[in-house]
Amino acid sequence: MLNVGQLNEGVVLDHIEAGKAMSIYKYLKLDHMDCCVAIIKNAHSNKMGKKDIIKIECPIDELDLNVLGFIDHRITVNIIQDARIVAKKELTLPKKLVNIIHCKNPRCITSIEQELDHIFFLADAENEVYRCQYCEEKYRSSRKKQ
Ligand SMILES: [Zn+2]
Repeated sequence: MLNVGQLNEGVVLDHIEAGKAMSIYKYLKLDHMDCCVAIIKNAHSNKMGKKDIIKIECPIDELDLNVLGFIDHRITVNIIQDARIVAKKELTLPKKLVNIIHCKNPRCITSIEQELDHIFFLADAENEVYRCQYCEEKYRSSRKKQ
């Protein structure tokens, strides 16, 4: 059983691939949030050997958890309320990514107009292919490349 410690309200992200915790920290913009975060690196896991865990104490609706589906849909998202796990969130590939990945096409309007949001939409769910909304430049999720 997962030890949620002193967490009253927030989320515990479990089964993060070892070494990925810091990139998730950045994707969730936790460095800009005034909340209590505990990162556990290289925790023992029967299933994975090693894993990372992130515990975040904050109102749940302040977190954009959809981006996690893009990073790794195998992450377990435990929703904590009153120091207990009240729900687990299923992760799916988001249909749309705003300012998560950036278009690499030098001719794309987002390379010229700095204020534009970088918007990608899911073009092919099976192969996890995203395309830039403006120029259709392809972006493939990194874990599919391996
Ligand atoms: Zn583009």
